[in-house]
Amino acid sequence: MTVRTGRDILGIPGPTTIPDEVLGAMHRPAIQIYTGELVGITDSLLADLRTVMRTAGRTYIYASNGHGGWEAALTNVLSRGDTVLVLESGRFAHNWGEMARMLGVRIETLEGTWRDPVDPAKVEARLRADTGRTIKAVLVVQIDTASGVVNDIPAIRAAIDAAGHDALFLVDTIASLACMPFEMDAWRVDVCVAAAQKGLMTPPGLAFLGVSDKALAAHKAADLRTLYWDWTAREGALHYQKYCGTPPEHLLFGLRKALDMLLSEGLENAWKRHALLAEATRRAVSVWAQGGALEFNIRDASARSPSITTVLIGEAYSQPALLDYCLEKCNVTVGGGIGELKGKALRIAHMGYCNAPMLFGMLGAIDMGLKALDIPHGQGAVQAAVDYLAASVPA
Ligand SMILES: *Cc1c(COP(=O)(O)O)cnc(C)c1O
Repeated sequence: MTVRTGRDILGIPGPTTIPDEVLGAMHRPAIQIYTGELVGITDSLLADLRTVMRTAGRTYIYASNGHGGWEAALTNVLSRGDTVLVLESGRFAHNWGEMARMLGVRIETLEGTWRDPVDPAKVEARLRADTGRTIKAVLVVQIDTASGVVNDIPAIRAAIDAAGHDALFLVDTIASLACMPFEMDAWRVDVCVAAAQKGLMTPPGLAFLGVSDKALAAHKAADLRTLYWDWTAREGALHYQKYCGTPPEHLLFGLRKALDMLLSEGLENAWKRHALLAEATRRAVSVWAQGGALEFNIRDASARSPSITTVLIGEAYSQPALLDYCLEKCNVTVGGGIGELKGKALRIAHMGYCNAPMLFGMLGAIDMGLKALDIPHGQGAVQAAVDYLAASVPA
């Protein structure tokens, strides 16, 4: 017996649910790419990305996933033999650093755990120790989608300043942009990397960069530049050059609709919605945790991210059986742990196009699975999420 016939609920931290309006906006014939409508769409997207990143700097759109965005950031500002400092807090900054290594950049890592945010005091100390000023850039993620941590980007900015270091500040916002405050200019971020398929509610295949004047200055001397990623080439006179080739026009139609939806909700309202849904999730997880089998991966409650909650499941219990139950019986896809948390964690995404009933559906399916599989858990988790939202969302 199953109760799965009905809407799919996709609860993984990317790709996320694509609104029907966005899918609909993509369902149209191809158009020409040299003049007219598409040129206007590109201009409007580059401007709205500035709004979403909170920057007056330049923005770029790449036909690539987030990994391409990483490569675009690195190759535009670095040269072979440069050193970068990678701030670890899970999987993603590490992998970004590994990409830099393959490009011929030296990597220094400020090691972290998978259970805590980056410690700004350690960043300051490490940069102070770099008396020769060899570190060219600092790489960090705002939200690590594997560990579920949120790093304090303004505090890390302050640490760089306190050390008196002039390294470029490169921030991955792939799992956080439009899900929580991000202030590229106010926090003096030099390169912001984002992608379409998480908070931005668009199919995978687009990456975005926001670029500061300081990054543009570094770009002039960078020797890792290649034509495809190159900012200067993308500033050419022809629309075609903005994409170094044929624009991914259907994804752009989708993104146009998604940004219209986001900006009509209001960016701050979207941040607030994510904060509410994240806290409702935490209320539920706290109740489940009373049974002793589940616990939050991130120890410090204030460092649990607003877009993804990572929950550890005791080794005595089968994480795959729980995920299978949610999918086979309820048509709810819950994320599993990745990297060192493979098979040991649930990742509950509340990211992008997600409202309260979608969240209740995910939490309810997990609660059913915990009961059906006899995994110990506190009672009333879904009710705790409902109660929190009822108290927080007044009539
Ligand atoms: C998803 C994700 C990436 C990778 O993006 P892809 O589009 O899969 O290449 C990088 N960083 C973070 C924080 C992510 O969540």
